[in-house]
Amino acid sequence: MANKDSTDPVRMEKIVSLCKRRGLIFQAGELYGGLNGCWDYGPLGAELKRNLKDYWWRKTVQERDDVLGMDGAILTMEQVLVASGHVGGFSDPMVDCKTCKGRFRADTLEASQCKEKPSVCPGQSPKCELTEPRAFNLMLQTNFGATGDQIAYLRPETAQSIFCQYKNVLDSNRVKLPFGIAQCGKSFRNEINPRNFTFRSREFEQMEIEYFCHPDDGMRLTDEWLEERLKFYGEIGIPREKLHILDVPDGERAFYSKKTYDIEYEFPFGIQELEGVAYRTDYDLGVHEKGSGKSLVYFDEDTKERFLPHVVEPSAGCDRTVLALICEAFDEETLTDEKGKEDVRTVLRFVPRMAPVKVGIFPLLKKNEAQVGIARDIQKQLQPWMNVFYDDGGAVGRRYRRQDEIGTPFCITVDFDTLGENGDALKGTVTVRHRDSMEQERLPVDALLPWLLERVR
Ligand code: ATP
Repeated sequence: MANKDSTDPVRMEKIVSLCKRRGLIFQAGELYGGLNGCWDYGPLGAELKRNLKDYWWRKTVQERDDVLGMDGAILTMEQVLVASGHVGGFSDPMVDCKTCKGRFRADTLEASQCKEKPSVCPGQSPKCELTEPRAFNLMLQTNFGATGDQIAYLRPETAQSIFCQYKNVLDSNRVKLPFGIAQCGKSFRNEINPRNFTFRSREFEQMEIEYFCHPDDGMRLTDEWLEERLKFYGEIGIPREKLHILDVPDGERAFYSKKTYDIEYEFPFGIQELEGVAYRTDYDLGVHEKGSGKSLVYFDEDTKERFLPHVVEPSAGCDRTVLALICEAFDEETLTDEKGKEDVRTVLRFVPRMAPVKVGIFPLLKKNEAQVGIARDIQKQLQPWMNVFYDDGGAVGRRYRRQDEIGTPFCITVDFDTLGENGDALKGTVTVRHRDSMEQERLPVDALLPWLLERVR
């Protein structure tokens, strides 16, 4: 098991470079020098992220009777964030280094962090001259309304709109406790020191569930949600042995939380948080009841009890999970050909349900019209169901490698056998090549859709 300090910067560099080369992730505003802490997902990155969000939604909302979805506004009223405590207290302690002019979070600072600017700062005390920590509010504020004199904030988490709409959802959907409201969407934090690629960004997406329950059930449900979330990570291809559960000790949890687990992953830059599962008690509904002056009390018709529901919150970072998927999938495999020549194959070993492209479709020969016709027909047949990629450029071996590099789990090749040119036995069949084993098998064209659907969903 890796320890907290074990890192692999060379691997991370290769991953960042692959992401740019193959169109997964680009620096936002790169053309103009880049906007620090913001990222654009290219064609393949957008597919990967969508697959993750869709699967999260399917598992969290669609396949559960007790969780409803919502999609709240990003612009948030000042009163909401005053009541929640964000306006007054959503800050990180910040220090400046007078030597390298760097700016750091005091709680995560180590002297060596000044190495971020090695050309100006030697990076070690006593030359690093740090100022006293001061609170730096992480929220991004904007002006609102025709005269621009109203303040609104870009939400720092998706959770607050869920708490504020809890009563509306309850009243309009005839649900009973326990039940959850799930939301996936953008959040914004003016992070002091965005770093580690997309890991710490200023604009990012969260996948949050607020699960409302009776006070007696909070602790048990926190443990149950932890298990549920670990299962989810397994299903998207992040193995259990790469995840670490931090049972956040007393004194390090938010003051209102009775229990918090951090689910951490072994990134190449260290073991870092992917998701927090927190038992938040009745803090959130309590502050909004007070802030709004409106009752958020729940009436249990069976027991005739009235109480403020407690909340268990599994809160995951979408971008961080995408990054974990890429880091986990990245592999370089050394292959040796018949002549003993070595070659390195770069492959993203995504589980098929996460892969941006599910299947590559190739005619063996670009100039063979019959092969092209069948390959195009297969493309049309599969496209309504999954993202496919048609490629007829270059040797078929190179086409396989291009798909390996972006994690496509299967490639289909239409060849002379498909056309029946070597006898009837293989007529109407295609080669299906598997990314991980590189093994090939033949399948009838008619069987492709059900065969693939069984494997990519
Ligand atoms: P950290 O300690 O890393 O700053 P946090 O504990 O403040 O994270 P939460 O407020 O619990 O994070 O947010 C829930 C999830 O949202 C985190 O587990 C993470 O996956 C994601 N998240 C939070 N901040 C960022 C960020 N700046 N960039 C990307 N994802 C983030």
